[in-house]
Amino acid sequence: MRDFLSLELEQDFLRLPSAYYAQVQPQGLKKPEFVALSTACADLLGIDLSSLSKPKSLAILSANAYFPGITPIAMKYTGHQFGYYNPDLGDGRGLLLADVKTDQSIRWDLHLKGAGMTPFSRHADGRAVLRSSIREFLASEAMAALGIPTTRALCVLNSQSPVYREQVETGATVLRVAQTHIRFGHFEYAYHSGQKKLLQELADYCIERHYPCLMGSAERYQDFFKITVQKTAQLIAKWQAFGFAHGVMNTDNMSILGETFDYGPYGFLDAFEPGYICNHSDHQGRYAFDRQPAIGHWNLSVLAQALSPLIPKDALVDALQSFNDIFNEDYLQLMSAKFGLFTNQTDDQTLIHQCLMMMAENRLDYAFFFRHLSCLNDAKVQTLLRDLCVNRDSFNRFSEQLIQRWSLEKVSQTERSERMNAVNPKYILRNHLAQQAIELAQKGDYSEVQYLHALLQKPFDEQPENESYADLPPDWAEQLEISCSS
Ligand code: AMP
Ligand code: MG
Repeated sequence: MRDFLSLELEQDFLRLPSAYYAQVQPQGLKKPEFVALSTACADLLGIDLSSLSKPKSLAILSANAYFPGITPIAMKYTGHQFGYYNPDLGDGRGLLLADVKTDQSIRWDLHLKGAGMTPFSRHADGRAVLRSSIREFLASEAMAALGIPTTRALCVLNSQSPVYREQVETGATVLRVAQTHIRFGHFEYAYHSGQKKLLQELADYCIERHYPCLMGSAERYQDFFKITVQKTAQLIAKWQAFGFAHGVMNTDNMSILGETFDYGPYGFLDAFEPGYICNHSDHQGRYAFDRQPAIGHWNLSVLAQALSPLIPKDALVDALQSFNDIFNEDYLQLMSAKFGLFTNQTDDQTLIHQCLMMMAENRLDYAFFFRHLSCLNDAKVQTLLRDLCVNRDSFNRFSEQLIQRWSLEKVSQTERSERMNAVNPKYILRNHLAQQAIELAQKGDYSEVQYLHALLQKPFDEQPENESYADLPPDWAEQLEISCSS
């Protein structure tokens, strides 16, 4: 295990033309202190977590200093926000501090969110407040534990620097760790500013860094796009299966590696509502839960346009067309496993669709329902689930059908339960759980953030001491509105 300060750092991004970045000095936060740290993320970097508390590390993580000799950079990108092109984007409040190559030859970017103003801050202050930083930290690490591709978070810090939103809050930082910070929007920037050379250099950079096996191939650009389509479709299949709504699927929030990127007003479903909108500012429901696959496809078509100077049109169209098949196949497989179906039968898709309609009609709690489903044969559990339904007939029809379908498989009840519990998490980051932890943290008590973070590291395990965290959400959770101002 290495000390955070002795990491062998580089700045790989500087190999790109300078149009893609500006070098920026971070602006420090006053009296910083740790809110929470992630051991799992530290392990990825091969660092000793305790080394983060050294004064020099703390200074870097609170934007009061930077790694010796390495001036951080703010990246330039653009993007489509709510369907409209915005040419003025870029890292407005985050800085790429450096990157590090681990012993496993994986290169990780270290990106400090909330590090102060940059040339891309527009009219904003370059800061991130405590509540949104805690939400990013908790979600990143919880998603990773669920096995959903995501950027990671090493730590979250609070400070005594005031930050003005609807009210005065405190400035915070998150150290985001990811294999790339390149978004669809980076390509849009090069394309819309008419700089083909710049575009090509970016594509070459991505290929060299992430898909070296494609280097030298005449079809490297189209293969790169194909893989991006595939990874994005696979990611969104997981979001849908786990009941995760991103909330702001603007193209500047889409990672080219198909990882969940930029946590804002996201939400895990409580009651199953296909059109669930977690972003309070999304009045049209553009980013509603059930629109995510279509939006993912739309975003990829924006990327396709940006890459069009490098890739023949037919190849772009073919790759875009593959999205639905990849998504459907993955989604069906993930949902089948959630329902305890481990072989493929012709009517499974219809059965799953009908089950979801029954869940929607009864507004069944998504995670609670699936977690209990493995015990549907148990009369007590069946009654518990039925009692949550307004339309009990539809529930009865569903449970008969599912139990009948289970009988077609030669799997013992114990084995089915185990396999179902390995894909249906008991613990998820419900909005109200995050909110309770945030409210305590705003009073200076970080213990609940740490506790929640730890329990979400094992989302599939039974944790008898944490039973209450797996309960149905309280009534007030439904009224919770997550502000977009972060
Ligand atoms: P987001 O909604 O967080 O994905 O941000 C969209 C764009 O606004 C990005 O270019 C951000 O860097 C920028 N941005 C968001 N909040 C701030 C802030 N407080 N200060 C400066 N830039 C910001
Ligand atoms: Mg963003």
